[in-house]
Amino acid sequence: MADLPTHIIPAATLRSFVAAIFGKAGCDAKEAAEIGLHLVSANLTGHDSHGVIRIPRYIEDIQTGRTLVGQTVAILGESATHAVLDGKYGFGQHVGPQAVAIGVAKAKQSGLSVIALRRSAHIGRIGGWAEMAADAGLISIHFVNVDNYPMVAPFGGVARRFSTNPVTIGAPPMAGRAMLLLDMATSVVAEGKVMVASNGGKPVPEGALITPEGRLTTDPETLYGPLVPNGPRNSFFGKGSLRAFGEHKGSGLAFMCEILAGVLTGGYTSGPLHHDGRQISNGMLSIYLDPLHFGCEDFVRKTMEYVDYVKTSPTAEGCDEVLYPGEPEARHRAVREREGIPLQVDTWTNLCNIAKGYDLPIPA
Ligand code: NAD
Repeated sequence: MADLPTHIIPAATLRSFVAAIFGKAGCDAKEAAEIGLHLVSANLTGHDSHGVIRIPRYIEDIQTGRTLVGQTVAILGESATHAVLDGKYGFGQHVGPQAVAIGVAKAKQSGLSVIALRRSAHIGRIGGWAEMAADAGLISIHFVNVDNYPMVAPFGGVARRFSTNPVTIGAPPMAGRAMLLLDMATSVVAEGKVMVASNGGKPVPEGALITPEGRLTTDPETLYGPLVPNGPRNSFFGKGSLRAFGEHKGSGLAFMCEILAGVLTGGYTSGPLHHDGRQISNGMLSIYLDPLHFGCEDFVRKTMEYVDYVKTSPTAEGCDEVLYPGEPEARHRAVREREGIPLQVDTWTNLCNIAKGYDLPIPA
């Protein structure tokens, strides 16, 4: 399959451009910079599905009032070790860091904390929140769901019952190595990858999708309905579903994300019940752990030793090397920081059109 044409742009230029767009869209300078930082960080780490490709939708969400600018999380309840927060449909890139900061402060004080965040607008790449906690020396675990936006069939079923519910676990940085960071959707692939396949990009793997008749397929029309070349992709038009990874085990994990991030946070699940009609806000239940409070002063050293041990495994057929979770992201970041971020031409064109609408200059 030929590579799609790309436009290459330095990360710093893209961050400023994104911040300028959101400044014009109504965000103050801090919030606009946070959106630029986190979207570009998703592109840098290779998760383009959660990067600047989202901007047209984010702008539309401001215009329709689905996402509200300038929100401060409301603390609905708290103790030394927990807090229940309402994101009030503020930008995930703005209320997300507020929630992490509260969790980090409590865990530094008490050794651990649990933060239940409900009603955040799209909270993006979850690995970014684990990185923030890691920079403070903490382990963090995040369970995330999306309200009223089912796309994934439960094991044994064909109808949409879960969203792509990510689970993320991060550990404090290891000097000279990539951060240990498991950051994954519980679907075989994130929806963005089906979108890329539908535009002629890399096909999704076998078993990623299931038809209403229960047949496994790789056909993006299962999710989007009949495809118009370069037309909009709306998952409401497809009749089939994505599948959870790992058969009954991944399906079970996706299920529990709905319960922890959707029910326990006081937010909403992917089901038709309990939501307030807005749709596609994220719930996130996060657990923060300070290894020092567990008497584990040598947590990082022991983790590094174990990482090195795992990597000494002889490789399987077709694999050159054993990677650990977080290594692919770190490698992408190193290359893209150096060489610039490749954006599909239609993604870049969309950003330029939005900028022109705001009379913003297009970066060279
Ligand atoms: P992925 O499949 O690319 O990677 C998943 C994990 O596997 C990562 O930790 C990665 O480091 C690791 N990994 C990848 N290749 C590996 C290899 N060869 N060896 C060892 N480890 C390897 O990620 P994904 O599941 O497509 O998720 C993409 C992003 O989407 C994540 O950042 C996630 O947080 C985000 N997401 C967000 C939402 C939301 O609602 N906000 C929903 C779903 C996904």
